[in-house]
Amino acid sequence: PLSTTDLIEEHRICVCVRKRPLNKKELTIRDLDVITIPSKDVVMVHEPKQKVDLTRYLENQTFRFDYAFDDSTTNEMVYRFTARPLVETIFERGMATCFAYGQTGSGKTHTMGGDFSGKNQDCSKGIYALAARDVFVMLKKPCHKKLDLQVYATFFEIYSGKVFDLLNGKAKLRVLEDGKQQVQVVGLHERDVKCTEDVLKLIEVGNSCRTSGQTSANAHSSRSHAVFQIILRRKGKMHGKFSLIDLAGNERGADTSSADRQTRLEGAEINKSLLALKECIRALGRNKPHTPFRASKLTQVLRDSFIGENSRTCMVSSSLLTGGWWVRPNIHVVDLMDYD
Ligand code: ADP
Ligand code: MG
Repeated sequence: PLSTTDLIEEHRICVCVRKRPLNKKELTIRDLDVITIPSKDVVMVHEPKQKVDLTRYLENQTFRFDYAFDDSTTNEMVYRFTARPLVETIFERGMATCFAYGQTGSGKTHTMGGDFSGKNQDCSKGIYALAARDVFVMLKKPCHKKLDLQVYATFFEIYSGKVFDLLNGKAKLRVLEDGKQQVQVVGLHERDVKCTEDVLKLIEVGNSCRTSGQTSANAHSSRSHAVFQIILRRKGKMHGKFSLIDLAGNERGADTSSADRQTRLEGAEINKSLLALKECIRALGRNKPHTPFRASKLTQVLRDSFIGENSRTCMVSSSLLTGGWWVRPNIHVVDLMDYD
């Protein structure tokens, strides 16, 4: 099997970790910061000096990533090393995918969607918007101009194995596979976009649709995967596609042990899809002929992103940082790195 280094050299998969700053509450209760980023691509997880037994996960471990971003890193910087290189891919007729992975509260939506803290409702600094901005910049290059490419965007949510269109009032959509093994989300609204501002409007529409009608916005969004796509078409035919995904929280165990049946089912579905995703990414990294994409709705919908010559993936794992008793360190990040 390929080593991690081979995969990095192949540039098909990039796995990064991002640490967010401690928030006000964590600072107030003097929570422990258990993660250090000593250099660009290394993360250290310390054993927190607290009563809880986290030692079986931690014990001053060191993990290597393609990039590790400390808590002073801006979205623009994270973007530059993660999604930015993938923008080129879709102009070269490729499929690009960028995931935000991590527990609820670790900063996935901040990374992908933008800054929604307090009064700020700014989606222009999220990776969705930054990628869109560069797509329009690239489009103006003479070599791309002559291709006469059209840009479209979709925004949908996968919740409990069902697909909902965030650009069409959360209409429930069916997923079909045709005889040629093409997967289609039937009736998904593909919006024509001409500039970054058009895209920003769609992100706002989708974001408000995502959280509308919920008693607790975060409770719902943490249980669903949000998929934002930028599609390039040439004479109607797909040229390239960039899928940017704010994954459901990966807090494994917490949901499945819940007394509430619905919550348990949701938790099981999330675990299933994150596991399927891991398998598909592994298959991609190893150029395996068989990709188990049917194992979940998420991977089924992303099927065309896992196959094909020119598919590239980037995983931005956001990590919780404090040693509070509720924290489960992000051991799944390590799972993803563990290709063998
Ligand atoms: P998730 O989507 O993983 O549940 P969020 O993106 O909603 O997490 O982040 C949780 C909170 O932390 C939000 O209030 C968000 O604004 C804040 N936050 C996350 N990442 C950062 C960051 N890098 N810098 C500043 N605040 C952040
Ligand atoms: Mg979120």
